[in-house]
Amino acid sequence: MKMTMIPNSNEARDIAYHFHAYTDARKHEATTPLIIDRAEGAYVYDSNGKRYLEGMAGLWSVAVGFGERRLVQAAARQMERLSFGHNFTSRTHMPAIDLAEKLVEIAPVPMSKVFFTNSGSEANDTAIKMIWYRSNALGQSQRKKLIARERAYHGVTLASGSLTAFSYNHESFDMPIANVLRTGSPHFWRDAEPGESEEDFASRRANELEKLILDEGPETIAAFFGEPVLGAGGVVVPPRTYWEKIQAVLRKYDILLVADEVVCGFGRTGNMFGSQTYDIKPDIMVLSKALSSSYLPISALLVNDKVYQPIADESHRIGTFGHGFTGGAHPVAAAVALENIAVIEDRDLVGNASRVGQYLRDGLQRFSDHPLVGEVRGVGLVAAVELFKQNFPNAAGLKNGELGAKANAYLAEEGVLLRAAVDALTICPPLTITVGDADFLIEKIGKVLNRVTAELA
Ligand code: PLP
Repeated sequence: MKMTMIPNSNEARDIAYHFHAYTDARKHEATTPLIIDRAEGAYVYDSNGKRYLEGMAGLWSVAVGFGERRLVQAAARQMERLSFGHNFTSRTHMPAIDLAEKLVEIAPVPMSKVFFTNSGSEANDTAIKMIWYRSNALGQSQRKKLIARERAYHGVTLASGSLTAFSYNHESFDMPIANVLRTGSPHFWRDAEPGESEEDFASRRANELEKLILDEGPETIAAFFGEPVLGAGGVVVPPRTYWEKIQAVLRKYDILLVADEVVCGFGRTGNMFGSQTYDIKPDIMVLSKALSSSYLPISALLVNDKVYQPIADESHRIGTFGHGFTGGAHPVAAAVALENIAVIEDRDLVGNASRVGQYLRDGLQRFSDHPLVGEVRGVGLVAAVELFKQNFPNAAGLKNGELGAKANAYLAEEGVLLRAAVDALTICPPLTITVGDADFLIEKIGKVLNRVTAELA
């Protein structure tokens, strides 16, 4: 809702001083920013006291819900005991030791070591550096190319952002960097040919991947990066047999597999990790977001022995592994992450994600025949409602993304915060949501679909 801005209001001060992420800066100067003031459970409240269901768990991240006392207390305890500590030059502290051990213990495949970073982008950049370092250590200095997919999101830093597929992450930033190759996404609904089965589409994607590898020279390819379910790309759920076929190609040419579990990790797909849901056997797993429910920034890479051992040898030859961040393995963030995982386990939030997720997705399926909807898709407690303007001649002039933005604005009026991947409404609430919350979400989405439809008719 557009309001008249009061001079020196908090909204005006935001525009005066705050340079926003992922925002059209000029448009922001003429808008009324939404100030989120406090939050509890699955709900956030704006500065006027209006309540919203946080249907995206912030940025796909607040797994245990907002204001969880156990995390608040863990942070306070750790801040009093050891407010900062690092892991350079063999220095360590208990939260880093305990969290590293816990992550290796719950990893779905045998992992050797955990390296801590602060964000998903940093973790993916670190993965790239480790992969290149390893190739050099093995005397394979030509093995440097990285394969990422259309619709991928792996972050925004120079290297991770180069893996990300979106043009607005590259344009005017002089990106992507060299050595990044692109292959097709597993978006069955959008990219399948008429009459093609899910299995045939998966085979086509695997064949395309193999052709790319052969054209480039298998000895030049170091790694393939993939989210088990593409998140920011529009909650793209892989078609049947996709991961099995992709992994067979990677194994054939001895190419490392990095599972970017930044969105899928910690219960989102109905199992602790997306790699379990799709029987993925990664060499590196990248974790962030729900690792600490984003109460504090922390991310982690789990690496197997195939990755770790050559890197360890190379660091010994050079005299150090010359990489690390001041805040990596921050003791307060690590303590919060440990408590967060304990909450997920104690309350069976993975089971809740699976049960309430099924209920929510069943409820959303009723919109699959709606004239404004192309596809409803999802797994566990993550879903998308893909809006489709083709049935409406009046919508022909809308640019891609305008329909999604309009629906989201109306949903906010109704007290629901979602995001849009172009015109796909993405849904990724806290793992704690109830059947009642799911009903509220379904009702409001239905109401907004009808409102937008009435406008376009
Ligand atoms: N990887 C995936 C799958 C993500 O969804 C994101 C963020 O949305 C990132 C990496 C980047 O994480 P960050 O924003 O913490 O750098």
